[in-house]
Amino acid sequence: TLFLDRIERLNPDLNAFITIDRERALREAAAADARIARKDAGPLTGIPLAHKDVFCTEGVLTTCGSKMLANFVSPYDAHVVGKLRNAGVVMLGKTNMDEFAMGSSNENSHFGATKNPWDVTRIPGGSSGGSAAAVAARMVPLATGTDTGGSVRQPAAMTGVTGIKPTYGTVSRYGMIAYASSFDQAGVFAASAEDCAPVLSAMCGFDPRDSTSLERPGEDYGREIARTPTDPEKPLAGLRIGLPVEFFGEGLANDVRAAIEAALDAYRKLGATTVEVALPNAKLAIPAYYVLAPAEASTNLSRFDGVRYGHRAAEYTDLDDMYRKSRGEGFGAEVQRRILIGTYVLSHGYYDAYYLKAQKLRRLIASDFAHAFEACDVIAGPVSPTTAWKLGAKTDDPVQMYLSDIYTIAINLAGVPGVSLPCGFGADAMPVGLQLVGNHFDEARLLDVAHRYQ
Ligand code: GLN
Repeated sequence: TLFLDRIERLNPDLNAFITIDRERALREAAAADARIARKDAGPLTGIPLAHKDVFCTEGVLTTCGSKMLANFVSPYDAHVVGKLRNAGVVMLGKTNMDEFAMGSSNENSHFGATKNPWDVTRIPGGSSGGSAAAVAARMVPLATGTDTGGSVRQPAAMTGVTGIKPTYGTVSRYGMIAYASSFDQAGVFAASAEDCAPVLSAMCGFDPRDSTSLERPGEDYGREIARTPTDPEKPLAGLRIGLPVEFFGEGLANDVRAAIEAALDAYRKLGATTVEVALPNAKLAIPAYYVLAPAEASTNLSRFDGVRYGHRAAEYTDLDDMYRKSRGEGFGAEVQRRILIGTYVLSHGYYDAYYLKAQKLRRLIASDFAHAFEACDVIAGPVSPTTAWKLGAKTDDPVQMYLSDIYTIAINLAGVPGVSLPCGFGADAMPVGLQLVGNHFDEARLLDVAHRYQ
């Protein structure tokens, strides 16, 4: 109840939670106590956690931040939810998010923006802003999120917590409301990399209900953290950190750059060496992503037609009118913009010029990473070009909002894992995040590299 009380006290100011389920939490806590008494407990048994409201939770409201699903109670649990329940976590509630995970500031939620706990006049980042703010404000020690184009790493950076997005396909998407299926991947927020590890270990593993789930055995992502280094003074001796020139260019704010440079110095002291690498096509990541993700979204969101579930307009003349009004009322402006962009780039005559071209760029960006990892073990750089901005600062300018994803999105196009860890503060005293990117399946090492700094 310590955390529940704290959530109830802070949520009116932060708006990090859409649903708080005290009764269920107490029930799950009692079950966890019983497991502990039976000596049938794991590392997560009894630990409180919140799920991003993109994950279906049986019997609990699952809104995806949208008016469309404002009354939707899921009849089943997402893979992630079921796996973590089996591990014994206690779910305290569902966190706020940009509608259908589309956004970089959490201001696109039907339930209002989440505020940054460091300064409530600022955004927490998005789209998993509610989860990040909840962990940052210590309303809950652990939270899940999803990262389609940075939505775990960017809010983690802006709220000063640790967040990991694993390799695409590591965590089943079953029951995770789809935005852009070839990018969507679940991740974790916690106060440290060490705390992220057991949660990710519990979430991963093959699931036949998701056709892109990787057929790999489960992993212990804390195994590298548990290792005792030969030289305790230089635990990262031999590690080559690649610094992509493209991530340290003009767009990077000076205060963010200074915090990143200081973190890199700390890594050199821990024994790592740094080498320059190149991701020459990274600058094309934003245009490629903002063609491909809306294209996938436009087809994924066609299921919300006011018939099977979701919002239905009260009055209409015929079927077409019912679709039009239900979708017009149920979806917010950004979601409608994405559907329009998506249907446009997929339409006959534009497909080759936009969608196909963007797919080719995606391939080039993935090869850039493969090439860079020939010269280094992990890649480091900023997560976001600036610290968290003021609420409302970019809401009238979608392109400015999209551009803030410049350092996170290429990682999703390549499908490789990424971690964001706190590494100091900007000139405005807001947190700065360092991004560490690994090659496919290198999560255990990434978490260890983050951990040695922490
Ligand atoms: N800002 C990106 C978008 O709006 C990221 C979203 C995400 O990762 N869910 O699409």
